[in-house]
Amino acid sequence: MIRQYELIDKILKYNEKADIALINRAYVYSMKAHGNQKRASGEPYLTHPLEVASILADLQMDEATVCTGLLHDTLEDTLTTYDELKEIFSEEIADLTEGVTKLSRINFNNKSVEQAENFRKLFMAMTKDIRVLLVKLSDRLHNMRTIDHMKKETSKLRVAKETIDIFAPLADRIGLYAVKVELEDLAFRTLNRDEYDKIEERKTFLRQQDDLISRVESELQSELEEHKIEARVSGREKTIYSIYNKMVKKNLTFDQLTDIVAYRIILDDKAKCYEVLGLIHNLYKAIPGRFKDYISNAKPNGYQSLHTSVIGPYGQRIEIQIRTQEMHDVSEYGVAAHWLYKQSSGNINPSSYRWVKELKEILQTTEDPEEFLENTKMDLFSDEVFVFTPKGDLITLPYGATPLDFAYNVHSDVGNKTHSAKINGRIVPLKTRLNNGDQVEIVTRKGQVPNPGWREMVTTAKARSAINRYLRAQELDAQIKLGREILEKAMRRDGYSWVEKDLQKVADAQKLQGIDDVFAGIAQGRLFPRQVVAVLFPEVAEAKEREERAKADTPATTSTGGAAQRLSQMDDENAIGIDGLVSGLAVQIAGCCTPLPGEPIVGIINTGKGVNIHAKNCKNLEQFAEDPDRWLPVKWREKDPEGGKGKAFVARMRLTLTHAPGVLSSVTTAIFNVEGNIVDLHIESRGTDSYDMRCDVEVQDLDHFNRMLTALRNLKCIINVERLQG
Ligand code: MN
Repeated sequence: MIRQYELIDKILKYNEKADIALINRAYVYSMKAHGNQKRASGEPYLTHPLEVASILADLQMDEATVCTGLLHDTLEDTLTTYDELKEIFSEEIADLTEGVTKLSRINFNNKSVEQAENFRKLFMAMTKDIRVLLVKLSDRLHNMRTIDHMKKETSKLRVAKETIDIFAPLADRIGLYAVKVELEDLAFRTLNRDEYDKIEERKTFLRQQDDLISRVESELQSELEEHKIEARVSGREKTIYSIYNKMVKKNLTFDQLTDIVAYRIILDDKAKCYEVLGLIHNLYKAIPGRFKDYISNAKPNGYQSLHTSVIGPYGQRIEIQIRTQEMHDVSEYGVAAHWLYKQSSGNINPSSYRWVKELKEILQTTEDPEEFLENTKMDLFSDEVFVFTPKGDLITLPYGATPLDFAYNVHSDVGNKTHSAKINGRIVPLKTRLNNGDQVEIVTRKGQVPNPGWREMVTTAKARSAINRYLRAQELDAQIKLGREILEKAMRRDGYSWVEKDLQKVADAQKLQGIDDVFAGIAQGRLFPRQVVAVLFPEVAEAKEREERAKADTPATTSTGGAAQRLSQMDDENAIGIDGLVSGLAVQIAGCCTPLPGEPIVGIINTGKGVNIHAKNCKNLEQFAEDPDRWLPVKWREKDPEGGKGKAFVARMRLTLTHAPGVLSSVTTAIFNVEGNIVDLHIESRGTDSYDMRCDVEVQDLDHFNRMLTALRNLKCIINVERLQG
């Protein structure tokens, strides 16, 4: 176990100006906080944070990160609070520690293997500061180094699996090669002890067999010296896990396994790398297809090197990597080293912003399309959001997704019955945007159905199309119902007697499938009751035609009789003039506020009964305040200026009039002059000097009504005029 002073020495070696007092404070704080806690090994708990800090010092991290290593378990496992860390240390350290704690709270379940990719993405998405991830990886590394102390075999296997599926690839992603391979080997050893031991044995055997490594090394070295190139040559055994992967991939037996060493030539500058490559290809026979130029085309994680495989001096196939010292450090220490090299000098105190920016640059400058794709799939800047089901399954949704999207992602039946949603246990509006790591729970209720407003609350195509599908089916039902009502009313008015199955004749005549299509056609305004009459009662239709011809001959006629006109009034019934409605849903202007075109309106959905249109200032809307899902954003359709008169709307007003002769006639004249139409009059109360009268008028829109009110106010006999609403 590393000691406090050894940690300090390690830090001072790469950062003379390090704030040692700060690190000592973190050490003492962590020691007190963890108190008597013990590790599974029986050692004091403090050994763990101390070792994690030491790994971070090996990565040459700044003081804040090393302190975070010392403190990383205090928020989770002790009484320490964020505010305390902020007060005693700094906001930076408190934030970093909190970041690590958040990552630690991500619960992996047994599905984590299949969902490894998503878990890795979740980690990246939750890491706002790359240093948090470095602490988390160091934490995992120390836990893996000590995994043999874990008591339960199942827990060991679970932790090892997580490590190989999630943490090692994460380390690779940010270029921490040394951490990656150590995590892999430790995890592989836990998961597959037999294979691990066999490979290790074979390696030992090959090592003892001959002095191949030193022979190749010295031959390479002398070749370089001959050409006066200064270089460090080293043979390095491949990791057990990488050998294992190669054996599986190439279907090798242990006896066939000979290729366990990779040689590395480290040079001072980039140009020399290519020169040395030329020398080696002259010296040994290159194996075709094995040359890779990662100098010109760095890997997404910043890795640079030349790779080649050749037939070596003793007929052995050998791999050689050629790189500069800087490239080498980057490959070992990833972004950390990359960042250090970019800094000219001075205090190592990277702001989190710089770290992230640096990583972003590395990720963005890659040119290998395949790797770039791999990279964009799990980079930091994902437009996805990762959330958990109550069972701990991870679900990926596009950024901006809501609980409704989540519900439809589970199943369209769940979506359709969504009544409310909880995020992390708290009830939230259905339109709330989800955040990474949220746990989402959907409360369904029997009888709950989607409403048109939901379309505005979802971002996924899946949810939107499921909502549309449902609404279309519902629209059709509503249209059939509405069409039947319209037809029944029209037919009853004119005394036709008919039965529903007669309508098949109409369907045939109109080339429609069935009776329901006839009703829907009527509701949609594509088919008119008089066309139904024409098919069912051809003799009446002929009479009507004669009537219309007569009307055409005498245009001045004021005849109000005849089925034709009444039927054509019926035809107008679904000319609504409101945008944002669901076609075919019955629409009613609310009687309480009788809104007019020109004033703000809102639709309230009565499930199964259609939509009521209220004025936005209607007092009755309060009762729907708790039910935002029933609100339908609607507005009056822009009037076609050439379109002539549209549908008339009824508005109600109260007139207070003086008792005088001819009062009523001046009121009706004034209304007539502005082209209004009185539909009802009612004397409400009679005083000695005046009386109140309620008057319903048909108007085109709010403007029209206001003009009428102005005209009335100008009358001498009028004391007061007011609109009645509600
Ligand atoms: Mn820990």
